[in-house]
Amino acid sequence: MIIVLKSSASPEQIMNFTNMLKEEYNVKVNKWEGVQSTVLGLIGDTTKIDMDYIDAQDIVENVKRVQEPYKKANRKFHPDDTKIKINDDITIGGGSLHIMAGPCSVESETQIVDIAKSVKASGATFLRGGAFKPRTSPYAFQGLKAEGLDLLKIARKETGLPIVTEIMRASHIDMFENVDIIQVGARNMQNFELLKELGKIDKPILLKRGLSATIEEWLMSAEYIMAGGNDKVILCERGIRTYETFTRNTLDISAIPVVKALSHLPVIVDPSHAAGKSWLVEPLAMAAVAAGADGLIIEVHNDPPHALSDGAQSLTPEQFDKVANKVFALKNSINEINSK
Ligand code: PEP
Ligand code: MN
Repeated sequence: MIIVLKSSASPEQIMNFTNMLKEEYNVKVNKWEGVQSTVLGLIGDTTKIDMDYIDAQDIVENVKRVQEPYKKANRKFHPDDTKIKINDDITIGGGSLHIMAGPCSVESETQIVDIAKSVKASGATFLRGGAFKPRTSPYAFQGLKAEGLDLLKIARKETGLPIVTEIMRASHIDMFENVDIIQVGARNMQNFELLKELGKIDKPILLKRGLSATIEEWLMSAEYIMAGGNDKVILCERGIRTYETFTRNTLDISAIPVVKALSHLPVIVDPSHAAGKSWLVEPLAMAAVAAGADGLIIEVHNDPPHALSDGAQSLTPEQFDKVANKVFALKNSINEINSK
């Protein structure tokens, strides 16, 4: 249930009203304060609440039931875009465009440091790299694990780029303490026990869409993290399974405006895992930016043919430089169009 309060409501009235709701109906009250109004989002069993009684209160502008099962992730609960701050100087969401770039897997110190330096020079604002890798085959490279995390930290120290890397199990959360953004991969989008544990920490989570997840299932996974108290969720569209086999996955471009309408959370796009082919990364990245993505996550490798994972979809640093330039130029043009 959403209760929009009148702009004339005083802080004291809002507090008394909120306390009444909590005591009378045993619900959690999520408060969002905008410039023009305050919105109270009620979470819990609201079936017994008499809408007419609420509507009749002096400070209430209007009241409505929320049909969607996701509440904290719902834009109705939080009309403004969520902006997630990383290290005080970077904000994801709310209009900026960030590129996270780096190899699929961290392979060695020189590999990750060299790639970090080149993607930074091209305008990337985050370094990506997998240390724990979810691979289809148990015989494939599984990642450098803890050593991979250490190498990412060395690359961060050398370049200043914050790091994004994937977690696969809740018992590793302590190991990820110094990671800037924790990625939950597509295969773990519905690992609810992992999501619940990530809800207890105060760190941005990049939540990739599951291979065959509907938008509602994806938002419900975000809700799992947010229900625990961690509001810093960044959604990542990375392509879904369809009957098409030419591309590795089918990039769901419509998911970007749809999720932005349904939710206030930032959405970034991974054209690399959607495409599966390096030459397709540029057009998909451009399409994602045109559709309103808040950022991109792109795989870049110094020697794609010899990459230990996902070489076919990885850009060389030179190719990445071209893509990044085009993407930022497109973003500037879009800003110009939107300001007219
Ligand atoms: C990755 O980012 O390297 C990865 C494994 O992605 P996804 O979970 O989207 O397949
Ligand atoms: Mn990969």
